[in-house]
Amino acid sequence: MLGVAGTAVTALIVSILVPYLSARLTGAWLPAATEMAQGYLTYPVPAWTILAAVVGILVLRWLVRAIAHRANPDAELFSYTTDTFGPWHFHWNWARDRYGRRTIRNLSPICSVHDTTLKVVGGDLVCPRCRRVFPALDRTSLDHFRQTIAKKAAARYGVEV
Ligand SMILES: [Zn+2]
Repeated sequence: MLGVAGTAVTALIVSILVPYLSARLTGAWLPAATEMAQGYLTYPVPAWTILAAVVGILVLRWLVRAIAHRANPDAELFSYTTDTFGPWHFHWNWARDRYGRRTIRNLSPICSVHDTTLKVVGGDLVCPRCRRVFPALDRTSLDHFRQTIAKKAAARYGVEV
């Protein structure tokens, strides 16, 4: 979405700047500016300038992401804090343990509507706000989901979890 908008804006800027600058350089500023004002939307932009702008934006975006990832490799991973597995929705936090390893903290099932932590009521998991009931979870299932989240995160963000 941002890429498409960015490309359109760049194409527009190029279509205005190129005739403006070339006219400035040749001294024919006013007629060129008038012509530009009349027809900048239909000004024939060479295909290669649009292609160059698109490639430039893609390279720039890739570069910015690579630099951001190098500066803080945890930023994307640490924003992955919710997921759904079967009937359960989970929320958790990320932290580094004392050995510097990335770990999942406070993994808990939440209500799919209210993001509220579910309470154990009579063996079931119940939302304290809407009374919606979810199947019970034992420690083994929680450990399984913890491992699933870690594997998914490692594959998706290219970091060791
Ligand atoms: Zn609820």
